[in-house]
Amino acid sequence: MNSQMLISGHLLIDGTGNPPIENGAVLIENGIIVAVDEKYKLENLVRKEDIIFYPESVLIPGLIDSHNHLSIDPNLDNYLSRMDDRESELTIRACYTMKTDLYSGVTTSRCMGDRFFLDVACKKAVEEHRIPGPRLLVATRGIRATHAHGFVGLPFDGPDMIRLAVRENIKAGADLIKFYLTGTVRKGEKIPYYLSEEEIKTIVYEAKSNGLKTAVHCIGGKGLELCIESGVDIIEHGYYLTDYEISLLENTSTWLVLTPGEFFEDKENLSPDKNEAFRKDRAEVKERLKAIINSKIKYAVGTDGAHGCLAKELKHLVDAGATEMDALKAATLNGAKVCGIEDKAGTLEVGKYADIVAIKGNPLDDITNLAQVKIVIKQGNILFQG
Ligand SMILES: [Zn+2]
Repeated sequence: MNSQMLISGHLLIDGTGNPPIENGAVLIENGIIVAVDEKYKLENLVRKEDIIFYPESVLIPGLIDSHNHLSIDPNLDNYLSRMDDRESELTIRACYTMKTDLYSGVTTSRCMGDRFFLDVACKKAVEEHRIPGPRLLVATRGIRATHAHGFVGLPFDGPDMIRLAVRENIKAGADLIKFYLTGTVRKGEKIPYYLSEEEIKTIVYEAKSNGLKTAVHCIGGKGLELCIESGVDIIEHGYYLTDYEISLLENTSTWLVLTPGEFFEDKENLSPDKNEAFRKDRAEVKERLKAIINSKIKYAVGTDGAHGCLAKELKHLVDAGATEMDALKAATLNGAKVCGIEDKAGTLEVGKYADIVAIKGNPLDDITNLAQVKIVIKQGNILFQG
């Protein structure tokens, strides 16, 4: 790693929501940002050979995928069932998908459930520079009831078994606790939930007493109210939130992680009936997403395993009424807040990790420009140049 480096572009968006800086630059020392300013004010502080200038590029903070699964690969036939593949296959897959994520500008990934604690091994291997990938926050095993949804989750029933599952996850190295409460697509008018209040409270108690946040796969319904009352920190997906449920969330400290692509894009590797299940509610879910975007709900965004496609998720947010700046914040500052690392990542500010992406074109003019990644820097290391 070069101990000192200045990277500059024709525009810099720091991710705080502040206006962009023309000809902005970031001065990096030992992987940490030490100054952010116009290039001409900083270029005399470093040797000429340590200046990287991308005159056609816009600098943004490294992106944060707030809902990911390392071993889901939508390029595989029937990919959800492929979560049952053997450990060696899933681990190799994870090494591949992490690289795809990193090269698309994702420098932090919040992993919301994988089998065999492979996310813990991947996190360590990335930290030790043995394999390329984003910085990982890992939920390890997703916890679900026997009769519940959750291809990635594993079954645990009753407070005693659930308590043990949470404690085992923590012992294995979990950074947060993830559980599945509802399905992904509503069946009928009501949204069933599959864990009791006592089970939910057990998860929250065990996680909180170990200083960990809890996150729940929940699309809405009575289960959502139970989670809010029980002190769950983050709701994942929220596809079918009613106006009443939106107002509940607006008045709590609970965050929502949006994963719109799951509903809005047909998937050629899923069966026609699975695709149809998503398609039939697409208009309703779009209308709900607009209501969420227009509310005061605090939200971040994730791909749910659509590796390399975070830019597409942001496009869905913009299509639902988010400003380009708010969409970008969902994948930077807000992602860092959901991960609890906002003091270290998520914006280009002094004292934070030098996680920087240079992209061709301005994402504030057209959010799809985020897909044109020119360089990815993580903690001061150049890990990709396109
Ligand atoms: Zn997921």
